[in-house]
Amino acid sequence: MTGTYDVAIAGAGPAGAQCARDLATRGYDVVVLETESEDEFPRTSNKSTAGTFPSTLSAFGIPDEVVQHPTDSVVLESPSSYFVREQAGAVLEFGEFKNWLVDEGREQGAEYRFDARVTKPELEGDQLVGVRYNGSETVYADIVIDATGPSAPLAKKLGVVDLKRENQAIGIEYEYEGIEIDHPEYADLSDAMMLRLDHDVAPGGYAWIFHTGEDTAKVGLCYIQSERYQQYGRDGFTIDDYLERWLESDPRFENAERIEGKQGHRGSAHIQLPTKMTTDSFIAIGDTVPSIDPVWGEGIGKCMRSGRIAAATADSALSPDEPDTSAQKLSVYERLWHRQVAPNAKARLLMAKLLYLAPDERYDDFMRDLRGLDDGALSRANSGDPLAIASLLHLEDVPTLAELAKEELHLDGHLGRLEKLLRSLR
Ligand SMILES: Cc1cc2nc3c(=O)[nH]c(=O)nc-3n(C[C@H](O)[C@H](O)[C@H](O)COP(=O)(O)OP(=O)(O)OC[C@H]3O[C@@H](n4cnc5c(N)ncnc54)[C@H](O)[C@@H]3O)c2cc1C
Repeated sequence: MTGTYDVAIAGAGPAGAQCARDLATRGYDVVVLETESEDEFPRTSNKSTAGTFPSTLSAFGIPDEVVQHPTDSVVLESPSSYFVREQAGAVLEFGEFKNWLVDEGREQGAEYRFDARVTKPELEGDQLVGVRYNGSETVYADIVIDATGPSAPLAKKLGVVDLKRENQAIGIEYEYEGIEIDHPEYADLSDAMMLRLDHDVAPGGYAWIFHTGEDTAKVGLCYIQSERYQQYGRDGFTIDDYLERWLESDPRFENAERIEGKQGHRGSAHIQLPTKMTTDSFIAIGDTVPSIDPVWGEGIGKCMRSGRIAAATADSALSPDEPDTSAQKLSVYERLWHRQVAPNAKARLLMAKLLYLAPDERYDDFMRDLRGLDDGALSRANSGDPLAIASLLHLEDVPTLAELAKEELHLDGHLGRLEKLLRSLR
């Protein structure tokens, strides 16, 4: 089957489906090619715990029908301490949310083709003219967008992204009932999203319990797979083994059972800085780039935002009487990405690396330091302000900073500044 469109999008995740929705709303002919079949959608790609915040819910008009449980706090846990912050949020039913986005796009006129596995860019000479899918089928489009998440078949073949295996974080999650949500030895997790820093549970990453009502919660963990981050890991342990071990050792799960009929969620994302995101007639969005926040893995809002700015970029390229889809014209997407999707991306990446490499004892001190910070300083640290980050660091972190500086040349300037700040503050 062939066809000619203004824009062809590979992948109906939060990024691709939001981009299609925005483009269709602006009147463009847009087609989304999704590898999964429609009757089971989403199955393999039903991968997310789907904790979100009001900024995302309101920016994209996400309705209550796809909210599984509203939350009112975020809890951070270390091996023997915790920190609670009042903050509204919502745990979405990810499958229903994805289907809602597809329906919204269709209502605006976007076309969806399921069972359509995108394999490579369609080129005429050097020029990108469309997308090849299911081996021999093609759609032609003025602009092609890769929104397939980490598989990135188009972005990789066009040399736009270089997703490195050592930066890949993997995650799994299941929903359980019978959990003691308010256990006397831990923070009360009623209506909370809890993230746990503890190398015994999730070496080189973090674990979580997101309350979904009564005695039920989504429970999962993720970590960066490389040896560097697995220095705290156990030989031969898989991610499933770690989850099983946590469930067996944490008293909150003593009577917990996996909820029957609920699909587990599993997936990956790369924790690295994007370099390039566009080329002639092509834009890479969402976790193809990758756009996920490196510190806490908030990906849904970030990826939808990247879909939205890609739609605006395509609009400005296609709307003039003489459309211009050159790499130079589309590169505005990269500037917008750094401004609107991931401001301070370098500082956030640095925070993530420091956090996941720190020893367990530092996590307990970190909880105490967080309790001492006012909301303003906390927000500034969270948004990557070096001075605010430095106020959370200790002199004992200098060797970790120096070690990171050696490995992460692209973070070198940031690390050097932080190290100086740290020394001047103490
Ligand atoms: C275990 C886990 C828990 C998470 N929890 C949260 C959370 O609580 N909150 C949060 O905000 N984020 C969370 N995330 C991250 C978030 O889910 C992702 O960042 C987000 O889904 C990425 O969106 P995307 O559209 O870029 O890609 P994806 O969601 O990966 O969507 C890509 C789509 O492309 C399709 N596709 C793939 N290959 C092809 C192909 N070759 N041809 C056609 N279609 C293709 C897939 O089937 C899929 O539908 C979590 C992730 C994981 C793995």
